[in-house]
This record gives sequence, structure tokens and C-alpha cells, in this order.
Amino acid sequence: MTDSPRPERMHAISAETRHTVDDVLEYARRRALYEDIPLDKPMRPHDLARLASGSITDDGIGARRAIALFENVLAPACLSTDHPGYLAFIPSAPSKAALAFDVVVSASAIYGGSWMEGAGAVFAENEVLHWLAHEFGLPATAGGVFVQGGTIGNLSALVTARDAARHRSREAGRPDPARWAVVCSAEAHSSIASAAAVMDVDIVTAAPDAGGRLHGDAVAAALDEHGDAVFAVVATGGTTNFGIVDDIASIADETTARGVWLHIDGAYGLAAMLAPRMRPTFAGVERADSVIVDPHKWLFAPFDACALIYREPALALGAHTQKAEYLDTLTETPDWNPSDLAVQLTRRARGLPLWFSLATHGTEQYRATIEHGIDLAQQIADEITRRDTLSLVRDPQLSVVVFRREGWTLADYQAWSDRLLEDQRGFVVPSSHAGEPVLRFAIISPLTTYELLTDILDTLG
Ligand SMILES: *Cc1c(COP(=O)(O)O)cnc(C)c1O
Repeated sequence: MTDSPRPERMHAISAETRHTVDDVLEYARRRALYEDIPLDKPMRPHDLARLASGSITDDGIGARRAIALFENVLAPACLSTDHPGYLAFIPSAPSKAALAFDVVVSASAIYGGSWMEGAGAVFAENEVLHWLAHEFGLPATAGGVFVQGGTIGNLSALVTARDAARHRSREAGRPDPARWAVVCSAEAHSSIASAAAVMDVDIVTAAPDAGGRLHGDAVAAALDEHGDAVFAVVATGGTTNFGIVDDIASIADETTARGVWLHIDGAYGLAAMLAPRMRPTFAGVERADSVIVDPHKWLFAPFDACALIYREPALALGAHTQKAEYLDTLTETPDWNPSDLAVQLTRRARGLPLWFSLATHGTEQYRATIEHGIDLAQQIADEITRRDTLSLVRDPQLSVVVFRREGWTLADYQAWSDRLLEDQRGFVVPSSHAGEPVLRFAIISPLTTYELLTDILDTLG
């Protein structure tokens, strides 16, 4: 570039910075409004190295070239998780309103960690959190924070639960147990084991029933055996692999009777509670001490956001508030400071894209879009049952459909999956259940259609 470095060059309003902002926003606008989202696919490191190396130079390559490099080489080497044929893991399908507003969050330089700095943003995020808490049947005094993802949400909730258990032990004059333990289902998400490892606590697995659902009796047995060592029970509101919802009401009976913390991991599935007909499936959530749900999964927000909600937010403040001299003016006020509710300090106001989209469209639109996913999962499950070479592994409860192609080995599934991606028709990866390779559709996007799914089934022969 011709301009030599001057300290303010990157920040001042000039022809150069104007063009940069215009070019970037123009690309963002185009990408957000693609009629046909390309699925795209990963590239090998040496191919990317050949095509994309050399962008970091002494003098810069300029915005035009950097954007062209991103648009033409780097972006096509990233899967579009919002493609309607992206059905692996848990897809993402942000609403146009939510993804556009994410740009505003970046442009506004908001610090989302404290009320003093981000009151307006924190207020709007809290509107969403209170609405969710109400939907889940939690009291009006419940509150929380948007954190990066379900993994950090689960960790933060469990850290709060252990802190609360420690306080209870002290008050009762009991010594802390030699090892703290958390009870969860053998089907619980891997992030629970990750949290336990970080916290250096034990995991006690309670056996789910043959259908993969955890019930209160198994939890009661674990609590009887491990007594005061147990600081929390985790129930899952929609497993990632199958969408199975634990028998939360019977689990809540046991945790309530013993005064043990109940955490609901609803990262994927708890959004389904917004569909009125699904509410009975989640009975008992209203008795939870903490819950999480990921807006970047089934609430149509962009990465990355997990809503973490506590029944008694004050308990989280005690566990998480960081104390430092430079933070005293923040922590010595009664203000609502989101940073103090989880494992984090500096935070993006990552709840704002969901706030904007909810404010724009209203809650009924969300209910209808979620119901579409549940209905489509049932329709495609019925179609799978009708086909001779396919069979369902289990009836779908939410929007995940797991099935097998008779006679296929893992290698067959993998070769088929590779071809599907190569042809840019869809992204479906083999999963496994009880040692058997299976296929899995996770449906999030309302642009995923019955026709698209049956076309994919047709390629299974
Ligand atoms: C996805 C998921 C998580 C982890 O959430 P991240 O946002 O990926 O960290 C935890 N629990 C369940 C049930 C999930 O589906």
C-alpha cells in the first residue's frame, strides 16, 4: 500500500477507511442475502497454503484483496452451517434479522460485562432471558447471562452449584466431602464430563432406561449411594444425538426432596418448550436451579450464544464475581453485571442478535418455526419407515432423526457421506449408536424441506 504507517491511519475517517467499511458491509450484505447458500467444503492444509498464503505482509495487501481472498478462497473452504442440507451435528440457521444485527453489535463497540458500561445492551439481553425464564416456568426473580456456548454454560452452572453446596455444608457444620460429585445420565453431553474434569470433581453416571431416558429412581439410587458428596444432578432436555428428554419431573422430585441442585442441560432441545404441544414433555423444568439453552442451535441466532439462567442469580454472583482493585467500582455496586454470573470477564453483548430478531418478529414466529422442525422430523421418520432398505433407530422426539441403511458398514456410510458433500447436496455424517454405525438428520433450518430430505434418502439406494 502507498500510505506509510501513521498511528491514526486505521481509525480515522478517511477515503481509505470509508472504502474498507463499504466493501466489507457490501460483502456481508451479499452473503446474508444469498438466494442459494453454497454448502462448500473443507480444503486440505496444503491446498489452502498454496491458494491463500502470504496475506500477512509488512505493508498490508489492502482491503479489496483481503476481501477477495476471503470471498473466493477462504469462505468456500468453510461449510455453511445454515445451508438447508447441512444436517450433521446441530446445524445453525440464524434468522436474517439476527445475523444482520450481529454486525451492529460489532459496529457499536459495546462492553457487555457490566451495567455501568453496557446498560442498554444488558437490559435488552435481560428482556430475552426473562422471557425464556418465564417460558420455562421459572420465577420472575430468575436471571442469567448469555455465554459463549453450552459447554461454558454447563461449567458455569456447575461451579455455582458446587459453591452453593459448600455454603450449605459450612452452615450445617459438615466438613466438605473428600471428593465432590455430579450425577448425570450415561447419555449426558460430553461437556458435563469436560466441566467435571475442569472442576476436578467426580461424575456419577445414573443408568437411563432402554429408551435412553433418565428417571428419578436411577437418580435416587445414585444420591443414596453418594450422599452429601453430590452437589448437583444434571438432566438433559434433549440429547444431542437423539433429542431424548429425560424424565425431568421425577428427577426433580428426588433433587427437591434432598435439597440437591438440579441443572437442566437444554443446549439443543429446551427451545422445543416454546412449542405449546411440547410443554408436557419438559414437565419439571420449572423446578430447576439452573438451565441452559443455546440460541445458536434452535433459536435461530448466529454463533455463539448460550442462555444460562439461574433460579437464584445471587448464588452465581457469589461463585463467579472476580475481585480486583481495578474492578472495585463495578463489583461494589448492586448493578446487574453479566460478567459476574459465569466463567468469563470481558464479554460481547452476544444476546443482542436474538433480542433484535425476537423484537422484530415476535414470539409466535419462533414457536411456529420450531414446530416446523418437529413436524418435519416426524414426516421424514414416517418416510424412512416406509422404505425397505431403511429403518429408524428410534422414533424422533424432537427434530433429530436417527436411522440405518440395512447392510451398510461404516465404510459404506462414510463413502456415501463423502459423495453427498462432494456433490454439494448435503452434509450428513455417520454417527453411532450402541456400537452400530447410523445416520442422523438434525433439522434446524426452516428452509430444510421434505423434498430435500427425500432426495437425500433416494441417494441411499
Ligand atoms: C451442543 C450441546 C452442548 C454444548 O454446547 P456448545 O454450545 O457446543 O458448547 C451441551 N449439551 C447439549 C445437550 C448440547 O446439545
